Amino acid sequence: MNIILLGPPGAGKGTQASRLVDERGMVQLSTGDMLRAAVKAGTPTGLKAKAVMEAGELVSDEIVSGIIGEALDDLKPETGVIFDGYPRTAAQAESLDVILSDRKRTLDHVIELEVDEDALVARITGRFTCAKCNEGYHDTFKQPKVAGVCDVCGSTEFKRRPDDNEETVRTRMTEYRAKTAPILPIYEARGLVRRVDGMADIKHVTEAIEAILDS
Ligand code: AMP
Repeated sequence: MNIILLGPPGAGKGTQASRLVDERGMVQLSTGDMLRAAVKAGTPTGLKAKAVMEAGELVSDEIVSGIIGEALDDLKPETGVIFDGYPRTAAQAESLDVILSDRKRTLDHVIELEVDEDALVARITGRFTCAKCNEGYHDTFKQPKVAGVCDVCGSTEFKRRPDDNEETVRTRMTEYRAKTAPILPIYEARGLVRRVDGMADIKHVTEAIEAILDS
């Protein structure tokens, strides 16, 4: 099974993808995570992407489609994939068709997380993660049970994404509206789009997605 999770920044794509990974043994391919790893490692791709990401703009279609193709080549053909944050433009959607058909994969569902954009800014600007195990937290909605200590692994180090500030978030929203939302009709025409209320609590969103995958 190959699915795309689509929705604006902060809609919960990454959170839901990692829950599906745990529960279904699927693999999450997040171009954002892969680009952040490239920036951290200082690879040529990372060097090109760093400033673009910090500004909240989109990295080139060639770069992201290239890393998605390479990541798929590392997987067994039967492993299910969740595309998280890719495709983000019409050109990427076209590339994904070719990338999948070259590897004899088909797209099963495009799941759109519907969210209230005003609430997203508060969601994003308050979020932080454990630097060791990546568990997600939030200044207002989900503080660690013991202040400063990760509930899951006990680490006392946390990190915030450099692009999770209000100004960059607004740019990321604008990019989503201008370039990513317009790809939905491509998938709608193929009958692949299913919508889920992304404002519901995390568990209910996961259940709604699971119901779609089981349908
Ligand atoms: P994300 O973690 O999905 O919010 O992505 C963080 C940043 O990485 C975005 O704001 C873009 O700068 C870049 N990025 C991630 N995925 C893509 C993509 N598919 N196309 C272009 N840029 C991307």
